[in-house]
Amino acid sequence: MTYYYCDACHYCFEGTFLPDRCPDCGADLYNDKPAVRLATKDEIKELLRIRAEDDECDPIE
Ligand SMILES: [Zn+2]
Repeated sequence: MTYYYCDACHYCFEGTFLPDRCPDCGADLYNDKPAVRLATKDEIKELLRIRAEDDECDPIE
């Protein structure tokens, strides 16, 4: 699994291939460069941290 990052809306997501445009905001270009790029290690770490916090907030059924 690879992580990607959208510079236009700062959306971090995982996938198996680099999409043409951001699945969240739909941007394909940002500052004349592809909006979606590979996420850096720090961005991946941040994504996983946010996800872990989200899990803690989930109501227990
Ligand atoms: Zn985006």
